[in-house]
Amino acid sequence: MDPVEVFSAGEKGRGLRVTKEISAGEVVFAEASFAAVVFDSLSLQVCHSCFRRKVNPHRCAQCKFAHYCDRTCQRAAWDEHEQECSAIKKIGHAPNETVRLVARILWRIQKDTGLVSDAQLTTLDLLEDHLSKLSSEDLKELKVDVQHFYKYWPKNSKPIGEDYVVHLFGMVNCNGFTLSDQRGLQAVGVGLFPNLCLVNHDCWPNCTVILNPGNQTALDTSLHSKRRIELRALGKISEGEELTISYVDFLNVSKDRQQLLKKKYYFDCRCEHCISGSKDDLMTAVRDTHGHKSSADVVKAVNDFSLQALVKIEEARTEGNFHEVVKLCHECLEKQDPVFGDTNLHLLRVLSITSEVLSFMHQFGEAAGYAQRVLDGYTKLYPPNSAQLGMAIMRVAVTHWHAGLIETAHSLVCRAYAILIITHGAHHPITKDLEAMRTQTEMELRLFKQNEPVYHSMREAVLTDKPLMVSGGQIKAT
Ligand SMILES: [Zn+2]
Ligand SMILES: [Zn+2]
Ligand SMILES: [Zn+2]
Repeated sequence: MDPVEVFSAGEKGRGLRVTKEISAGEVVFAEASFAAVVFDSLSLQVCHSCFRRKVNPHRCAQCKFAHYCDRTCQRAAWDEHEQECSAIKKIGHAPNETVRLVARILWRIQKDTGLVSDAQLTTLDLLEDHLSKLSSEDLKELKVDVQHFYKYWPKNSKPIGEDYVVHLFGMVNCNGFTLSDQRGLQAVGVGLFPNLCLVNHDCWPNCTVILNPGNQTALDTSLHSKRRIELRALGKISEGEELTISYVDFLNVSKDRQQLLKKKYYFDCRCEHCISGSKDDLMTAVRDTHGHKSSADVVKAVNDFSLQALVKIEEARTEGNFHEVVKLCHECLEKQDPVFGDTNLHLLRVLSITSEVLSFMHQFGEAAGYAQRVLDGYTKLYPPNSAQLGMAIMRVAVTHWHAGLIETAHSLVCRAYAILIITHGAHHPITKDLEAMRTQTEMELRLFKQNEPVYHSMREAVLTDKPLMVSGGQIKAT
């Protein structure tokens, strides 16, 4: 049994707490998805069984909608696809991802009577749907999905009352968990994990949740736990303490985080960091030059300028006009730098885009400088064991490696590894990537210290021959 129990967490409703002390990096519990679907937009590029991205996937000959890595993945998924397959065939097209997810949940409930195992701590009936808090517009949208559901749900299946269907749509809306691809780079689908739904939010949480397919090989289909999440402790958690995760990125001022949470999850965050507004001052920091700070009017003008510039920057980036992006970023930084402090979110956002785009344009030396500033800011803002921070350090390490700054690159790789071993664990594909990188940078650093010219000529050869390769995939130079 997992060391967790459900308890009443006051105005937050139900919550989960631990029944014994947990240490940093420990998996509090792991859970397979009750049901999950690939996003509509990626249905041709992502395997509907293991959710990995796949070039030229194998298509289901029946519905022509589902795609798989290969027949092994297809066979593993047949149990959950069978009824869906004939329903799609019957109406001639696949409905949207939310309708597909609700239908999969219902087929699963009918098969398993709703409770999959003793480890499941709640039934789906008891999960929040927040229907009463929905705006009339959202409710209208939900009802459209419900209509689509009834067109899709097979006439010969057990009829389902509308109230229950509406409950499931509301529940999926606020409890659906976004699934990312194998390297955590892209959101590819959405799934329902009942136990995870019981874990409440805190802007400065004691746990993180990651998708980890585990160690099974594709052949081991009986254990093919395709969509498995792990709730991992970020630090020591005492017996009886509530488990929390963050539903939103911490890098928003408390007022903005509260707004995001209210809009998507229908509650007012009263976590310690929101109440005290801690770090808000850093996130809106104004530069102090020898005791002199810009006036409120100037700060407001640069704030407004930044917001407008970011819109233009995003437009140019979407168009692939990277020279324009860099030009706009430089213009923006010229205005921001004298006014904003190092941890100001507007400044960090522009610095981060500048570094990313310069890396993309292979101007790694300049990119590394900007990346370093982003990282210094993030380090002051994020919790020390945050997965976002770990991933950011990893990206900055790659930029430094490309720039030939091997000493910094190696120390950053080690720093990222120390975080990811806690947030992702030793068996996660990203941690394995980092381990391979660490071996490489360690070797290069040794060479660099022994004989710098040899190091540089080796690097030239490696760079022209093959960019930093790890686990068969090329690390994106962002
Ligand atoms: Zn697959
Ligand atoms: Zn099919
Ligand atoms: Zn909060």
